[in-house]
Amino acid sequence: MNVHDSEKVVGTLIQEGYQQVESVEAADLILYNTCSIRDKAEQKVFHRLADYKKLQAQGKKFGVLGCVAQQEGEKIFERAPHVSLVCGSASYQNLPVMLAQLEGKSRLSDSHVSQQRLDMWHPQFERKSEGHEREVAHFSPILQEVGFAGSRKPGAGDLVRITGLDDRQTDKCFETEFTARTNPHRGYITIIEGCDKFCAYCVVPFTRGKERSRTSQSVLDEARQMADLGYTEIQLLGQNVNSYRDPTGNKSFAELLAAVGEVQGIKRVRFMTSHPRDFGRDIIDAVDAVPSLCDHVHLPVQSGSTRVLDAMQRLYTREQYLERIGWMKSAKREISITTDVIVGFPGETELEFEETLLLLDEVEYDSIFGFKYSPRPNTPALSLQDAIPDEEKVRRLAVLNEKQRAIQKVRNEKCIGSTLEVMVESRNEARGQWSARTSQNKVFNFTAPSDAQLIRGEYVTVVTTGSFPNSLLGEMVI
Ligand code: SAM
Ligand code: SF4
Repeated sequence: MNVHDSEKVVGTLIQEGYQQVESVEAADLILYNTCSIRDKAEQKVFHRLADYKKLQAQGKKFGVLGCVAQQEGEKIFERAPHVSLVCGSASYQNLPVMLAQLEGKSRLSDSHVSQQRLDMWHPQFERKSEGHEREVAHFSPILQEVGFAGSRKPGAGDLVRITGLDDRQTDKCFETEFTARTNPHRGYITIIEGCDKFCAYCVVPFTRGKERSRTSQSVLDEARQMADLGYTEIQLLGQNVNSYRDPTGNKSFAELLAAVGEVQGIKRVRFMTSHPRDFGRDIIDAVDAVPSLCDHVHLPVQSGSTRVLDAMQRLYTREQYLERIGWMKSAKREISITTDVIVGFPGETELEFEETLLLLDEVEYDSIFGFKYSPRPNTPALSLQDAIPDEEKVRRLAVLNEKQRAIQKVRNEKCIGSTLEVMVESRNEARGQWSARTSQNKVFNFTAPSDAQLIRGEYVTVVTTGSFPNSLLGEMVI
């Protein structure tokens, strides 16, 4: 979600007349989009901000956006006095006004707009040593930086302090006239922002504000615009996408999903992340009915133990979770199922951890994202007793990942011989292979005749000839 937030922030800046530049060095305004879901993200942010300090002499301005901005608030000005803007994601809708304040203007004038230059720098996603590689947007990078150029140089004594921290109760979503999407074929649409679930371990409700949905009309308009621009794959996004409530009462989440899938020109629709509590059978009925809805559901379980789920305040039991898995397994197409797991939640016993391992066997996930429990500021779990030592969390995560790897090996072997349609993503010259993605969201590497002129975003048919735990191998069918 952070990646897509950045795309929308950049779109907003471009609308305001800024211009993107290639590097932090060339930028006059650097916005740093942050995520604090795990680890000591705030420390990393302060280290990075300290690096920026030396650039201040060049007249650059700095802003901190996202979860760490919301969490640390005005403390950021104290620890990093060269920062001028601190803005949580619930306030992004006010960015044009804040930017104007930052520039020392009530509104940007035309002459000012024409000289703006902007830079958006997406550093590589951090790949963490724990767990699997994160390849999807909802496992957002810990940090993203956005740099812009052309701001008014501050005069001596200028101490600009702009905050956007008070909007967590807002009903408004961050709707943009223009979104600077970085992939021309696969695009994201946020349909719901914030979260009201307050799981005991999670900062999101404190940083992203309350749950609020866009109207189905606005989502469908955006999907149609994207189709007109040539996008063929759309991913609907939300912390809990299936908690979607159309403010106009026109469509349920499943109905919206189906309607997006029926937009002319859209070949694939994905949705991420689903919460088990709000997961209705109608979602699977929609996947059955609309072929463009991808056969993949990401349904985070967090733990296989009902006792731990209760302590996590997830408000479902192992049995209720498995009931939803049963619906997916009885779908007409084989649905690939993926999940998130937290190991080492306070008080998790060895037996409870083993219940999670047994759940992996029972569900046979296609992929999992495993995390060590990380204590987060403001969350109720902070006050729980029986913290699990880090070495034990590391051990449990390794056991979890090893088990899952074995499951994936077997699952992917079963794909050998199958013929699939894949979307081409890139070329690996060294290996003489193309890399693509299946509807089930699996990586598919394949060879094609040397005269095949494939392009990114194209759909081709492939036959599966081999498999690995994290990818499939095959050949293009001519
Ligand atoms: N809303 C989704 C749900 O409830 O399943 C998840 C969104 S959360 C941004 C992504 C994942 O981060 C969670 O599924 C959870 O596994 C992980 N996570 C969140 N807080 C965590 C924490 N304090 N420690 C470790 N993992 C955490
Ligand atoms: Fe965090 Fe729970 Fe909300 Fe997911 S549902 S974002 S884990 S509080």
